[in-house]
Amino acid sequence: MSFELAHRVKNLPPYLFEKLDQAKSKALARGVDVIDLGIGDPQDPTPSHIVEALYEASKKSLNHRYPTYVGLLSLRTAIADFYRKKGIVLDPQREVLALIGSKEGIAHIPFAFVNPGDVVLVPDPGYPVFSSSTLFAGGEIYKMPLLEENRYLPDLSIIPQAIAQRCKMMFLNYPNNPTAAVAPFEFYEHVIQFAKKYNIIVCHDAAYADVYFEKRPFSFLEIEGAKEVGIEFGSLSKTYNMTGWRIGWAVGNADIIFGLSKIKTNTDSGVFQAVQEAAICALNSDQKCVDDIRKVYQTKRDVAVLALKKAGFSVSSQEATFYLWFRIPKMFNSSESFASYVLEKTGVVITPGNGFGEAGEGYVRISLTAPLARIEEAMRRLSSLCL
Ligand SMILES: *Cc1c(COP(=O)(O)O)cnc(C)c1O
Repeated sequence: MSFELAHRVKNLPPYLFEKLDQAKSKALARGVDVIDLGIGDPQDPTPSHIVEALYEASKKSLNHRYPTYVGLLSLRTAIADFYRKKGIVLDPQREVLALIGSKEGIAHIPFAFVNPGDVVLVPDPGYPVFSSSTLFAGGEIYKMPLLEENRYLPDLSIIPQAIAQRCKMMFLNYPNNPTAAVAPFEFYEHVIQFAKKYNIIVCHDAAYADVYFEKRPFSFLEIEGAKEVGIEFGSLSKTYNMTGWRIGWAVGNADIIFGLSKIKTNTDSGVFQAVQEAAICALNSDQKCVDDIRKVYQTKRDVAVLALKKAGFSVSSQEATFYLWFRIPKMFNSSESFASYVLEKTGVVITPGNGFGEAGEGYVRISLTAPLARIEEAMRRLSSLCL
């Protein structure tokens, strides 16, 4: 028997990390001491007071039952309070929705609003789920290149009017994965103007909102008019080293939140309530643990940037996220050939930029989530390359 995959699966963009994954497995099999700077998954543990809160909450039998679909009101209130500290007022009843990680909401939102043939604007390079969720919903992707000369912000003025008129939704992500760029206030003002002109839903992915160094990046919702056109996705994953817990949120426009909740009530049954209680603890407790996590990334960033600069790479200290994004050396003709060369010669895994979209060609991404000692060792090895 053979079971043909549905067109929506067959038509997914190719998975570009396959070759590198294979090369990594082979190196491991050869006994190479591989250092993986590819994956954006914090390796440090979740702060212990949050783990304790989960343990206590898991003992309550009320939490063993189906959770409420939209999230406990106490969690939605904690999320609203968390935003109030940034000067943003949200109604926990209508403007906040708990998610099983922000990825879940990003994967579902097009189903609520995108009809077959509608255009969705997605950043290139970008988080792959923006495109796959659009395609699953039958939408048409229009890529917005994020170019270094534009500080990795999309140029809305070059989007053809015919595309803008057919456009239903737009994904943005700042602080950005993979480029580590942050967006200035004026950029969001342009986005809101553009969205109002063409009646576009703005979905801002702020998974890295709290992974920053000097200045806190703007939330999309801080800008006047944002709530009329969009929502923001947030997450505990990167902020509190909680990627495995699967909890995040969508906040903003009540109608958009309502649409997303309609899809969710027909798909999942919400987040384990004990995890919700632990999230309340995370959001309401002293945020010193977040400062500590930031300091660790800052140290790693400074070590890596210094070493890479010395080795001749053109890299700068990014203001947010735990990624470094930089150009490959001139003598390599593709991101992939450079990443393969680095793995072959040093056992260090780095991510070719084109895996995030065509506009990422010519760049690579390094993740700073490995332990400091491993990053130092990786930098020693990279410095030994004769480039
Ligand atoms: C990690 C990441 C997410 C997903 O986070 P979860 O809340 O764990 O689902 C979303 N967007 C971007 C850009 C990410 O890098």
